[in-house]
Amino acid sequence: MNLQELIHISKRKLSEAGIENSRFVMMSLFRGVLSLNEADLILDGEKEIESKLSAKYMKAVERVVEGEPIDYVLGFREFFGIRLEVTRSVLIPRNETEELVEIVIDEEKNSKVFADIGTGSGAIACALARNIPSSLVFATDISRDALMLAEKNARTNGIFNIRFIEGDNISGLNDFLDSVEVIVSNPPYVRTGDLDSLDINVRKYEPMVALDGGKDGLDFYREFLKYLPTGKKVYLEISQYEAEGLRELVSDLNGYSCEFKKDLSGNYRFMILRPEV
Ligand code: SAM
Ligand code: GLN
Repeated sequence: MNLQELIHISKRKLSEAGIENSRFVMMSLFRGVLSLNEADLILDGEKEIESKLSAKYMKAVERVVEGEPIDYVLGFREFFGIRLEVTRSVLIPRNETEELVEIVIDEEKNSKVFADIGTGSGAIACALARNIPSSLVFATDISRDALMLAEKNARTNGIFNIRFIEGDNISGLNDFLDSVEVIVSNPPYVRTGDLDSLDINVRKYEPMVALDGGKDGLDFYREFLKYLPTGKKVYLEISQYEAEGLRELVSDLNGYSCEFKKDLSGNYRFMILRPEV
């Protein structure tokens, strides 16, 4: 089979399956699986593709057709300019979380010690550690598989100012909590009863431990706030449906002022706690 034929077949399969942006998906697979780009297509369309390679490409197309998120099929996702390996042990990092990182970098570039609780693929920790090179970042997760992948992602990207700790919520930071100045987290925040209404691809492929926030979506925050000492700066991603619930939860928190920020889609998505002066 030559390149043009391969393109033709895969485009048809993707659009027949009703995949949105089928051209974008096809080009991503082209780049990711075959290491080819648009120019190769134009200049070398008649070039024969090795059968092993075309089979690998068609297998990837099949996986997308079956509904698997393209980032899992490719095996990586770009986050804040960093290429992160992603497997089904970790949530695929979202664009809103890049906005969270932007806020933190903007406000905390002079801080030294950070924590990323529930690091998943290592997205937030890697982005902070790379962009604030004089910092030390403690990255925790309750999932050992996630933590191993996060560690690998940091190493592959040449990022060495992160320490990885397996642990539960804020208590997972143990003795290190004292030295931490800034805590960042994108915890699981989907209400258990809403998990069924998530996009089928999310529900079927992404880890529930990364998404399930308990009955009202606030389990993680409740536990976190219970043990939060005074004097930290805290940047949390939140559900667009939970700003009110969280406002209530922090109303009796001593020593902190609270600000909610919207994401680019206009939803309340971030909660910032600052020590009161
Ligand atoms: N930080 C990554 C990101 O933004 O792409 C992953 C976020 S994902 C929504 C939440 C992560 O928190 C998952 O990796 C999950 O394993 C972890 N997690 C869930 N419950 C936790 C807990 N009690 N303590 C620590 N980590 C937890
Ligand atoms: N934004 C994710 C989703 O709904 C949820 C991530 C989370 O629970 N932190 O797909």
